Amino acid sequence: MCGIFGYFGKKENAGEIVFHGLRRLDYRGYDSWGIGMLDGDSIVVTKQAGKIPQTITSLPTSSIAIGHTRWATHGGVTKNNAHPHFATDHSFILAQNGIVENYQSLKQKLQKKGYAFSTETDTEVIVRLIEDKNKRANNFIDAVRTAFHDLTGRNTIVLLTKDGTVIGARNGSPLVLGIGKSKGELFLSSDILSFAPYVEKTVVLENQQIVEITNNKFRIISINTGKQEKYRTEKNTISNTRVDKDGFDHFMLKEIYESPFVIEQIYNQDARMLKQLALKIKHAKHVYAIGSGTAGAAAAQIAYYLRIYGSMHAVSLIGAEASDYYHLFTKDDVIIAPSQSGETADVLEALEHARSKKTKIASLVNMPGSMITRMSDYPFMSMAGPEICVMSTKIFVSQIAWGYLLAKTVQGNYSEGKRNLQSLARVMSDYLHSKNVLTQIKSLADRLKQSKHIFLLGKAQNLQIVKEGMVKLVEGSYIHAHALPAGDLKHYAITLMEPGVSVIVVISNDEVKEDVLNAVNEVNARGASVIGISPANHERFTFHLQVSDLGETSAILTILPLQLLAYYLAVALGNNVDKPRNIAKSVTVK
Ligand code: GLU
Repeated sequence: MCGIFGYFGKKENAGEIVFHGLRRLDYRGYDSWGIGMLDGDSIVVTKQAGKIPQTITSLPTSSIAIGHTRWATHGGVTKNNAHPHFATDHSFILAQNGIVENYQSLKQKLQKKGYAFSTETDTEVIVRLIEDKNKRANNFIDAVRTAFHDLTGRNTIVLLTKDGTVIGARNGSPLVLGIGKSKGELFLSSDILSFAPYVEKTVVLENQQIVEITNNKFRIISINTGKQEKYRTEKNTISNTRVDKDGFDHFMLKEIYESPFVIEQIYNQDARMLKQLALKIKHAKHVYAIGSGTAGAAAAQIAYYLRIYGSMHAVSLIGAEASDYYHLFTKDDVIIAPSQSGETADVLEALEHARSKKTKIASLVNMPGSMITRMSDYPFMSMAGPEICVMSTKIFVSQIAWGYLLAKTVQGNYSEGKRNLQSLARVMSDYLHSKNVLTQIKSLADRLKQSKHIFLLGKAQNLQIVKEGMVKLVEGSYIHAHALPAGDLKHYAITLMEPGVSVIVVISNDEVKEDVLNAVNEVNARGASVIGISPANHERFTFHLQVSDLGETSAILTILPLQLLAYYLAVALGNNVDKPRNIAKSVTVK
C-alpha cells in the first residue's frame, strides 16, 4: 500500500501540488505522510504521523518535490518512521511503497559496514543500500539500479536528489508518469487519478524500470541492463473525473447509491470480448476466480455463477492462499481476477505463476492502467468511476453483476442475462430511493450498535453475500461478525446461540429456502434473535428487511441492505466511515 507522488515542474508551489496529490492517494494508507522539497541546493522535509490535514501552509517555494502517504508495515506509526527518509549526508530522500522482504539481512550487512539507522522501517535499508552502491557505481542511476538487484519483495520508490533529479523505480507496486498539460511539468504517482486533472498523457512504468526526471525531461531505464528503454504514452482519458460526495455525507453512501449505474456500465459494454471469454471458458478444464478481501467474496460469487449457469468446474481462491494451486494451473485453465485497483499484490503473484504456465487470464478492474489489466488476455474494465471509500461497495456489485452476465453468456443466454441485469438496476434504484427502507435500516443499526458479535447466515446464491456483509460490518463498525453457511450452523456455531445474540439471515425464493429456514428455527429455538432479509416475512423473524424476489439476480440486490446496515452502524458508532482504522484500499504488499 502507501501512496507515492512526485512533481517536477515550473510552478513554485511543488510542495502544495504534492500535498494535494497525496490527499487523493490517502485511500492507500493514512498512518502518516511526508513531503520533501528542493529548497535551493538542499532538501527540506515536512512530515507528520496521522492523517493528511485538509490544508497546509508555510511550505517553502519549490518547483520539485516528492511525497508519501504511509500504511505502516515495518516500524510503528511515528513521525520518525514517516517517509521520505534522508540519506546520511542529506544528498537525497526516498519514499517507498512495498516491503523489503530481506531487510533484516541487508540491514545487518550495512550495519557491519558502519551505516547507522535512525528508523525502524525497511525503507531505510534501501536508502543506505543506495548510499553504499553509490560509492562504487559509475553514476547515481546505477547505484539505484544495482540496489534493486539486492532487494527481494515488491518495491517501488520515488527519490529526490539535492541537485534536483527525481527518480522513480518500479518493481511490483504501481508507478505512473504523467506528462503535464503545461509544458515542462511531470508527475509521478501510484495512480493516475491523483494527477488526472493536470496531465495530458501518461506512461505506466513496467516492473524493473526506472524513470529519471531531470531538467524537465525524462528517460526510462531498465533496472536489469541499465539501458534506455522505449515506452508507450497513453492519452489521459480521465482528466475530468470528479471526486466529490455529490451532497452525500460520505463517499460510502454515495457509492452505494451508484449501484444501479455500475450495473448499467456492465450490461452496456460491447458483448464481443465477453462472448470470446465465454467460449474460452466453455473449453477450459478449470476456472479459478481469484480475489482478496471484498474481491475474494466477489470471486467466489463469480465462481458460483459459473458453476450454476455455466456448468463449469469453477472454484475461487483467496489471493493470499492461492499458492497451493500454482502447480495445478495449466494452459487449459482460465483465471478470473476481479480487482478494484488492479494492483493487489497477492493476486498479481498468482497471475505471474499463471502466465508462466500459459493459463489464460481474464480480469475486471476499475482503475485504469493497472498491472492486472496489463497482464490479462481478456482485460475488462468496471468503468464504475472512482471508488473513494476504502470499504468497497459499488465495485463488489459491479464484479458480481459482471460474473452473472459472464455465466449467462457461457450458458448461451447472454440476452436473458442482460435483461435480468436491466430489471435489477431498476429495482435497485427503487430500493435505494425508498424512505421506508432507509428508516428501517437506520433503526436496525441503532438496535445492533451495542452488539459484541453479529452472525450472518446464507446459502447457495446468498452465501458470498453474507460473507461480504460480514466484511462490511467488520470494516465499518469494528463489531465482530461471523458469516457461515446456514447449513453449517448446527455443526459448531450453534453453541453460541442464546438470548441477546443477533443473527442476520438472507433468504431468497429459491430451492434452498427451506434449508435456510431450518437454520432460522434452530437459532430461534435457542433464544437468539433473527433479522431476516428476504422477500417474505416469517413468524420467527424479530426484524424483517423486505427485498424483492428477482430470481437469478436476487443475491445482487441483497447486498444493498447489508452495505447500508454497515454504513449506518459506522455512522451511529461515530467511526471514520470512508477511512476505517488500519486498512487501506489498494493492497500492494503481500
Ligand atoms: N514498508 C514501508 C513502511 O512500512 C512501506 C509500506 C507500504 O508500502 O505499505 O513504511
